[in-house]
Order: sequence, then structure tokens, then C-alpha cells
Amino acid sequence: MKLQEYRSKEILERHGVPLLAGTTATTPDEAREAARAIGGPVVVKAQVLVGGRGKAGGVKLAATPDEAAEKAREIIGLDIKGTTVKTVLIAPAADIAHEYYLGLILDRATKAITVIASAEGGVEIEETAKTNPEAILRLPLHPLIGLQEHETRRIGFFLGIPAELRKDFAKVMRGLYAAFVESDADLAEINPLVVTDDGQLLALDAKIVLDDSALPRHPDLEEMRDLNEEEPSEIAAREAGISFIKLDGSIGCMVNGAGLAMTTMDLVKLAGGEPANFLDIGGGAKQDKVTAAFKIILDDPNVKAILINIFGGITRGDEVARGIVEARSNLERDVPMVVRIVGTNSEEAKPILAEANLITADSLDDAAAKAVAAVRGAA
Ligand code: GDP
Ligand code: MN
Repeated sequence: MKLQEYRSKEILERHGVPLLAGTTATTPDEAREAARAIGGPVVVKAQVLVGGRGKAGGVKLAATPDEAAEKAREIIGLDIKGTTVKTVLIAPAADIAHEYYLGLILDRATKAITVIASAEGGVEIEETAKTNPEAILRLPLHPLIGLQEHETRRIGFFLGIPAELRKDFAKVMRGLYAAFVESDADLAEINPLVVTDDGQLLALDAKIVLDDSALPRHPDLEEMRDLNEEEPSEIAAREAGISFIKLDGSIGCMVNGAGLAMTTMDLVKLAGGEPANFLDIGGGAKQDKVTAAFKIILDDPNVKAILINIFGGITRGDEVARGIVEARSNLERDVPMVVRIVGTNSEEAKPILAEANLITADSLDDAAAKAVAAVRGAA
């Protein structure tokens, strides 16, 4: 789950990272009030979950409260990379002397929380990685010991943090690390971390991405979710307890088990098709879950066929087949469905599926080929 900048800043501030938090506003009037309360030049910033807001016109300075209202009027309603801005953050403006990039990621390659740092802040790190990779420091941290003081010093030296700010930098580094670990994040980045003209170190922008699987133990963070920016189908899936990720293809997949779901997607591609989603209905899924899964898959107008791949262990094939037939009879939209059920009671499942006009398949290759053929037939 991605957190908005102002939410990410709340978390960082709680862990002692120096920043100028500000207030959110959803109307120009609220923006004016917020700026008046701050009582000096402010920055008006679009709160959307995409990078590069600055370049897209979503970050603007304002000298007076009236100007803040004006900038808010320009930014609210603006389309930034497909997202309409609903909320802006009004924060005290900083006079920037230097911008740095500082981030932590959970790096699967090194299997460690890894520091990413660059003295070329303000621009997207992916850009620096392409144009000037030597300007980036990657430092994996020890999984048990965590961030050590000598590492913080090394990062500070690499960035060229002024000597008088090294203590403050250590505070930023410790706070960022604690925020990352304690909120079970996948990513926590400050871009830019700045030194101001009057020699303060401040986090000017922040982005935290949380590990969805760890969210159940952070109800306070779950509340920071911005439903405004999530796919309605992904919200529905979460509520039904289904793992779902929307993709761009035309073959909807309904599978029990994450590994099997990935294999299914691979075989769809191998057969010349494109999966419309990753979907794992989980073990022992009953009819209500199958119904929810159908709705979620068919909500995507690109879906022209559905491939159902169920491995029956404890789950009995004939029960699943009956569940599929029943769930299908209640759908508003219908597409060809290819069903492969193997394992417990798969033989008993076959007549139930055949009678309901579902396309059956014995092997997964066969199922993928039939789903691709069904899409071509529909096109
Ligand atoms: P992003 O483009 O979505 O990453 O948004 P940022 O919050 O990082 O802002 C983009 C750029 O706007 C920063 O790199 C700064 O150069 C500039 N900026 C943001 N806040 C301030 C501020 O308070 N004062 C000044 N002078 N510039 C700012
Ligand atoms: Mn930024």
C-alpha cells in the first residue's frame, strides 16, 4: 500500500525526522486558511500516489494566503498521470541550498534492507540510475544488527553532508530506518532531503510503501489507505479476502494458490494469450468467494474469457464445479469459461461442468490453449 506524502511525513515525524509537516486542504479556501495559519511563504503540493508531481505542475510556491488559494485552485482537479488531484498539502516553503536523495528498500537481490543514497536529489532516482549510476550509493544493512553508526557516517560522507549537520543527518537516518522497520515498509524514501539556506536539514518530500501482507498488524496504518486512488476491483478483492492484481490482458484467471496462479499466467502467455489479472481465491474457497471472484474479473471490460484452474486437495472438485455453475448463473455479464479441475473428485466434477456448457480441459496446456482460442473466437 502506497501512502500519500502527508501520511508518510506523519510517520517520519513520529520517528524524529526533521520536517515541516503542514496541513491538507481540499478547497482553495481551506488552502488560504492553512497558509494564513502558517504565516509565511508556503508550498502547495498535489497529494497523488505518483512521482514527478513537480514536473507535472503539482508543486507550486505561494508567497501569500491568497496566492496559496490561487495555486490550490490550479492544482485541485489537475490530472497527474491519470489521477485527478483531490487534496493538496500546504507546508511552509523552504529555501533550498542542496537536494539529496535518501531511501531504504527491501532489496530482494541482497535479501536485506538496503540504503540508496545520492547527492543528486530532487530528480527521480531511476533517472540518476540511468544517467549517472556512480552517483548512487547502495548499502545493504545487516538483517539482525540493522543500521550501524559507522554506516550512517559513511552515507553522510558519500553525500557530502556539511560537518555541522552530521548529527542531524544521523537523526534522519535513524528515524528513516526506525519508520521503515516499525511500519513493515517495502520502501521509505525522502526525495529531496534538503539543506536549507539557513543550514537546516529537512525532509521535503516523503514516500512510504507498506507491505500489504503485514498490514493486519498495523490497524493505525491501514487507516491511512487512500481509497480514492485504488482500483475499485482491488478494493472489492481485499474485502472478499482474495489476492488480486489487475493486468492488461484479456484472459481472466481464477486459481487457488499463488504459485499455481503464476504458473497459469505463464502458460496463458506461452499459448499466445495475455492474462487480465493475477487472482488467488485461496484454499477451501466456497461459492461466495467464487461469485466475488467472477464479479471482480468481469468488472474489467477487457476480459473476453476466463480460465479457471483449481487443484483439489481438501477442496472437493465436484463442490467447486457446483459453486462455479451456481455463481455463473447469477452473473450480469458472461464470457466463455475454460475450467480445469484436478485432484479430489475431479471425475465427478466433469459432468457438472459439461452440463453447464463450460469448456473443460484435462491439462493446463490444453486449458490455456482453449482460453486463447475462446478469446480469438470472441474477437
Ligand atoms: P515530486 O516532484 O512529486 O517528487 O515532489 P517534491 O515534493 O519532491 O517536489 C519537487 C521539487 O519541488 C523539489 O525537488 C524541490 O525542488 C521543489 N520544492 C518542493 N518543496 C519546496 C519548497 O518548500 N521550497 C522550494 N524552494 N522548492 C520546493
Ligand atoms: Mn520528490
